[in-house]
Amino acid sequence: MGVFEAPANLTGHEQVVFCQDKNSGLKAIIAVYSTALGPALGGTRFYPYDNEEDAVRDALDLSKGMAYKASLAGLDLGGGKAVIWGDPVADKSEALLRAYGRFVESLGGRYITACDVGTYVQDMDVIAKETRHATGRSVENGGAGDSSVLTAYGVYSGMRAAAEHRWGSADLAGRTVGVAGIGKVGRYLIGHLLEEGATVVATDISEQARAWLSTTHPQATFVDDTDALITSDIDIYAPCALGGALNDDTVPVLRAKVVVGAANNQLAHPGIEKMLAERGILYAPDYLVNSGGVIQVSDEIDGFNFERAKRRASQIFDITGRLLRTADSEGVPPAVAADRMAERRMAECGRLRSILLP
Ligand code: NAD
Repeated sequence: MGVFEAPANLTGHEQVVFCQDKNSGLKAIIAVYSTALGPALGGTRFYPYDNEEDAVRDALDLSKGMAYKASLAGLDLGGGKAVIWGDPVADKSEALLRAYGRFVESLGGRYITACDVGTYVQDMDVIAKETRHATGRSVENGGAGDSSVLTAYGVYSGMRAAAEHRWGSADLAGRTVGVAGIGKVGRYLIGHLLEEGATVVATDISEQARAWLSTTHPQATFVDDTDALITSDIDIYAPCALGGALNDDTVPVLRAKVVVGAANNQLAHPGIEKMLAERGILYAPDYLVNSGGVIQVSDEIDGFNFERAKRRASQIFDITGRLLRTADSEGVPPAVAADRMAERRMAECGRLRSILLP
């Protein structure tokens, strides 16, 4: 795929950098979608792609998503993302991570990295030996630590806003929430839900996750799989595993009237947002409600302060409410309204830089 001839949904990137260090085996692609609102922040995915085209496509797609996420969350950040093409278990080494860090540094702060699939806080500590532009480092090293804490808090805040929009009350007590994916985010989310008095039904493919649920929260119910979860009597569905949770098979049978979850790219393809609206299911856009993670790690840029980051993440409640009302008044699904709001802020605030300062 020629970068300049990429499909329409992937074009428009400011900069795409290919990085190679033969000695350590590093092959990385850093994609900067936009710096209209500030430095392009986004994680580094370490993944054994089948081919180079898939790696490029993922970097382009994910970096665009980050720009929209930061914009809608009201952050002064652009959108970027990087992929390291390789097997994180077999190929990761100190030299490879540090070589990558040097490439990040070479961009002079236009791109700021963080964790993603296949990279962890310990990796960011290593990368940060070579660059000032790494977030998501460990708390011992001045970092924000595990971003799933505020991701879950943001999802919970977005869920309360969606409940208020749908039922007139943000209170989740007495509501039944189906959580698919009892991973890092799912676990914190389940904690918030139970604390508020919601009933939790959850599923995961991992035995270890099932054991964690029955030991930590015996009052929650475990169901065998996602099909059983979405066809059970739930008010709210929270996809917290992989992308594509809302698709041609799941939306027609979904019992929930509200969908709010952490997983990225929940809509399997364009048009699903209309199917949800036609079935009267309120969908809070994934990249808005899961922006607590980027809020958490971006706080490191100013010297990490958990309480400040949490206050920022709690604004997801207000932004979600505003977005859902805007979608109603514009007569479009929330996913469409979210894209419009994100694009508007990038255009309006990004334009201000054309006013020359002394
Ligand atoms: P995780 O890997 O810790 O947890 C994912 C869980 O989903 C695992 O327990 C896994 O066993 C389970 N799972 C996988 N396939 C499943 C299936 N078919 N059915 C049921 N369960 C399944 O990941 P996480 O950090 O908790 O992230 C969850 C989702 O939220 C991901 O899509 C991630 O991209 C997104 N997200 C995470 C963050 C963050 O800060 N961690 C931020 C934004 C978005």
